[in-house]
Amino acid sequence: MNAAFSHPEPVAAILQAIRAVVGPRQVPLHEPCFAGNEWVYLKECLDSTFVSSVGKFVDRFEAELASFTGARHAIAVANGTAALHVALLLAGVRPGDEVLMPALTFAATANAVAYCSAVPHFVDCEQRTLGLDPHALRDYLQSIAEIRSGQCFNRSTGRPLRVVLPMHAFGHPMDIEATLAVARDFHLQVVEDAAESLGSTVGGRHTGTFGSLGTLSFNGNKTITTGGGGAILVNDSALAKRAKHLTTTAKMPHRWEYRHDEVGFNYRLPNLNAALGCAQLEQLPGLLRSKRRLFELYAAAFARVSQVHLVAEPANCSSNYWLQTLLLDEAVADRRDQVLAATNDAGLMTRPAWTLMHRMAHFSACPRMSLPVSESLERRLINIPSSAQLAQSASA
Ligand SMILES: *Cc1c(COP(=O)(O)O)cnc(C)c1O
Repeated sequence: MNAAFSHPEPVAAILQAIRAVVGPRQVPLHEPCFAGNEWVYLKECLDSTFVSSVGKFVDRFEAELASFTGARHAIAVANGTAALHVALLLAGVRPGDEVLMPALTFAATANAVAYCSAVPHFVDCEQRTLGLDPHALRDYLQSIAEIRSGQCFNRSTGRPLRVVLPMHAFGHPMDIEATLAVARDFHLQVVEDAAESLGSTVGGRHTGTFGSLGTLSFNGNKTITTGGGGAILVNDSALAKRAKHLTTTAKMPHRWEYRHDEVGFNYRLPNLNAALGCAQLEQLPGLLRSKRRLFELYAAAFARVSQVHLVAEPANCSSNYWLQTLLLDEAVADRRDQVLAATNDAGLMTRPAWTLMHRMAHFSACPRMSLPVSESLERRLINIPSSAQLAQSASA
């Protein structure tokens, strides 16, 4: 081992390790991969004129999603945020309720709660999974919650605590089993934001299928894309029917009448997008293999870099490795912006963690527990180029 590695300068060492994997070119954070039947299925859509809300690809995409994830039902919708909105409504979230969720997440998780006129209540994360910490949640609920006639309430605000909404960050499964146990003890429903974790499993079971409802996203930067799109995963058949009904304007089935039995949403996924989704799903197993291979390549490159580590899947879990994640040691956390500047200047797209939800003006008054781990992760986390194609082109 040479001197440069025994006394590494973190910024240069990180740049060098990424370069060793991706080679000497400009690299985005995450690119979609269209290497299968995308053109064929899209052409079929256009030729049939069924490009919009009716068509065989929507049904096929839903059936294939259910089969891949093991959920009894999958309902395709316009995007992952719409999926979350409807999943929360179906879990019983009502105006004025509080929804427990991680402070470290993408804005959509908290926005969906706000769409229900409910209040996000921010919970800390654990470093091991980057997701909501169920043990911290249990301790916290023991001090702030009370159960009255089978319903959990926040003693200080008086509002019902209805749902816990964990999120599997960057594809790494959070500790969903311990979360289910907390939810059971405190009479909470569980809705999983699995937008980032298509293909990630816990004990062999797909993320998003543990709670009463789960949601996926097929935005352009996710593991597979439909352009824009999402899905609700649910086992309960009555809830699945309600999900389909609510997301398709709540129209009563009839040969010609336009009759709607409640205020529904136009959240359905167009056939054109579902066609793209069917082609993408065919490639998902290969994409997951490539993304795991990319993790191994980065792990080898970063093994020699001190003061930084690459986040690996938690024990007993399989991650889809959607976005590869570096964590700087606390001692060099103040170098994060230099790492971001140096890598982006060099054409290697890297990004920091999301700004924690409670720092946004519109969520700053929401209740929260103390968030030491989330705040630490926010200072130290960097996502690095993660496209599946990088593993295919890398010289291993
Ligand atoms: C992508 C994402 C969503 C949903 O995003 P859409 O762009 O609406 O499909 C929700 N939550 C998280 C954590 C996400 O990363």
